[in-house]
Amino acid sequence: MARLKHAAIADPSRALLLVAHMDVVGVDKSKWTVDPFGATMKDGYLYGRGAVDDKGMLAANLAAFVALKRTGARLNRDVIFLATCDEEAFGDSSIKALIAKNWDKFAAGFAINEGGVVIAKDGKVQYTAVQASEKVTYNVDVVARGTSGHASIPLKDNAVLHLATALEKIGNYSAPVHLTAVTRRYFEGVASLQDDELGKWVRSLDTPDRGEHAARVISDANPAWSAMLRDTISPTMLSGGVRANVIPAEARATLNIRLLPGDTIGVLLAELNKVVNDPQVKFEIQTNAGLAAPTSSLENDFYSAIMKAAAQEFGGAPVLPYQSTWGTDSAQLRLHNVQAYGLVPFPLTEDDLKRMHGNDERIPVASFAKGVALMVRIVNEFAVSR
Ligand SMILES: [Zn+2]
Repeated sequence: MARLKHAAIADPSRALLLVAHMDVVGVDKSKWTVDPFGATMKDGYLYGRGAVDDKGMLAANLAAFVALKRTGARLNRDVIFLATCDEEAFGDSSIKALIAKNWDKFAAGFAINEGGVVIAKDGKVQYTAVQASEKVTYNVDVVARGTSGHASIPLKDNAVLHLATALEKIGNYSAPVHLTAVTRRYFEGVASLQDDELGKWVRSLDTPDRGEHAARVISDANPAWSAMLRDTISPTMLSGGVRANVIPAEARATLNIRLLPGDTIGVLLAELNKVVNDPQVKFEIQTNAGLAAPTSSLENDFYSAIMKAAAQEFGGAPVLPYQSTWGTDSAQLRLHNVQAYGLVPFPLTEDDLKRMHGNDERIPVASFAKGVALMVRIVNEFAVSR
């Protein structure tokens, strides 16, 4: 942690926090074409685990912080640099533990973190999406129980079959569409970036007569949009059985569920119980749920500063608020009254974004420089006196 002070006595409610995490997810080295920890420069890219998530932003935050110090500009608020770890694992050094033990050392009213995107296509920024809220994660086990026995005599209540049937029904279920203040503004902004036909449907999303059909069309067009519009369920793990010749008494699957802010797991599971409609199948909520946090405001000076800086840096490309389908540390910050916003400030193509947590993660070197420039602009816009 480091702090640039604007006055002898700190006013945490005005302070700006630049936060990024130092830890990364693991790698399967055999699937990479370069050393995942070698920081290889190749064809205009920097390759390495964490290049995008989140060491790139960590470096950009630090560069902006150092630049601010070097210019000797007169600050109107404290600016705090914070590098966290355990973000990917929610462990002892995570933001949660830091807030519990050391909140007084980095308390702030405003924060910028990972969580948003700058989408580039054909070398040009299409739009900047500033994360202002995020979905809430739950892991829920689907447990089917039946009679165990000798596999040579098939049983109708076989737990594996009941689990499979339940999962098929869950896979065909689609939760109702629910627009939030953030997604409404996002879709309004993104409509003009689509071709005429799709743009028309995006614009119809919030209309009483054509909304339902529009939601179907745009959900089919883009799975990420579908996930922004509703609670989602992804089965991710399966287990059951001990021997090939034994019918097991139990089989289980894990569902990774992402709720829209404001929705509750109880309501969704009641609906899934109806959909599955099988007394042999039960749902068990795991205890590692995410946090439901309030949405950051789209009206305050900090959000305006981010919008202005991004529009200036990226040639007037639209800046839209964004409700991420993934969770970030910002939920913890928002629960502590921080107006937290998410970016990854580097212009990236959809292809480069897909490499996050994947193989051959990389960042275009030119995009890195632009991301640093954006962070410098944001900090200057919001924290420097004129
Ligand atoms: Zn991250």
